[in-house]
Amino acid sequence: MTTPQGPTAAPITQDVLTIPRKLPEGGPVNLVGLTRPQLREALIAAGTPEKQAKMREGQIWQWIYHWGVRDFAQMTNLAKDYRALLAEHFVIGLPEVVTRQISADGTRKYLLRITGGHEVEAVYIPEENRGTLCISSQVGCTLTCSFCHTGTQKLVRNLTAGEIVGQVLVARDDLGEWPEPGAPKDETRLVSNVVLMGMGEPLYNFENVRDAMKVVMDGEGLSLSRRRITLSTSGVVPEIARTAEEIGCLLAISFHATTDEVRDRLVPINKRWNIETLLNVLRDYPRLSNSERITFEYVMLKGVNDSDADARRLVKLIAGIPAKINLIPFNEWPGAPYERSDWERIEAFADIVYKAGYASPIRTPRGEDIMAACGQLKSATERARREKTGLAG
Ligand code: SAH
Ligand code: SF4
Repeated sequence: MTTPQGPTAAPITQDVLTIPRKLPEGGPVNLVGLTRPQLREALIAAGTPEKQAKMREGQIWQWIYHWGVRDFAQMTNLAKDYRALLAEHFVIGLPEVVTRQISADGTRKYLLRITGGHEVEAVYIPEENRGTLCISSQVGCTLTCSFCHTGTQKLVRNLTAGEIVGQVLVARDDLGEWPEPGAPKDETRLVSNVVLMGMGEPLYNFENVRDAMKVVMDGEGLSLSRRRITLSTSGVVPEIARTAEEIGCLLAISFHATTDEVRDRLVPINKRWNIETLLNVLRDYPRLSNSERITFEYVMLKGVNDSDADARRLVKLIAGIPAKINLIPFNEWPGAPYERSDWERIEAFADIVYKAGYASPIRTPRGEDIMAACGQLKSATERARREKTGLAG
């Protein structure tokens, strides 16, 4: 005879073991942003029989991420009692849209309020054959890149996985991009790409970003392939191999300079992990992540990093790394210690890079009338508010 704890006891899978089997106190739990194992565990903790948990997880997952449902009452393939149980313990909570601005070019900027009253921004950029959603990973940033307005703000906190996924759900809600139940599968995507290029350094919030991207990539829900997600980092070297292994998305590097002396000034994390150290870890990324190439972002600052010699040094440095160089005309902000390079200079720089065999697109500024460009997020809204209240300095 065996005891209940003996060899005949039901096996418990590894992922379930890692999560406490109790719902946290202090109100309903938000299901948005939980990974599949976390969701299953939360359902069990709320009283779902273990035998049914996997099936319920799949059903609820589809309702939230495939159909865009926000109310348990609409989950019609679940028994009424079970829906009531879910509503008692859980919510499907999204960041609150404080303002939405739409640019003349169709770019949409959302100011979102999250728990604690903090605000972050997300920007939707429609293009001919795709739509890119730029999302934030932190409120503020701990780093202090000297050309970036977000860098002048202190870090307030990391976003939770739910708040990161929530930005995608908010955009799809606003764009009306959810299938009608019963309608044939529609393959056109409004939000077809996601870039982690909003506020914050995603690799200083690794676990939440990873979990959020797992939700976004899941084939039964939002279903964006890992090749449609680009994570931009200033160069947090120890987390780059992990990004390849645990997320596998495309990588963009805020490179911006070709000597340590200049990069130390522009991207101060360079003092910790310099250009050589960064490039060494990047050489392994395409193989580790099975992705084709790395994007090098390069902000064009007049007289600082935009000479022909810089362009030549750049292509020499990255030799051997499958790469594309994205030239970003500097987005000026009041009080910024830099100016945007002249257009002819940017083109001459692009030409040298292109002739060396690298794609060198110049990023067209989008949503300029609503201050939706990289490095301007949140700060512009804060500024407008200060002006409105007469506090502008
Ligand atoms: N923290 C991450 C991602 C957010 S910033 C990173 O630094 O990569 C997204 C991109 O915008 C980065 O390449 C950043 O260097 C760039 N950026 C920041 N401020 C900018 C500005 N004022 N003009 C142009 N690009 C800017
Ligand atoms: Fe932070 Fe990126 Fe801005 Fe640097 S460029 S301060 S890492 S958000």
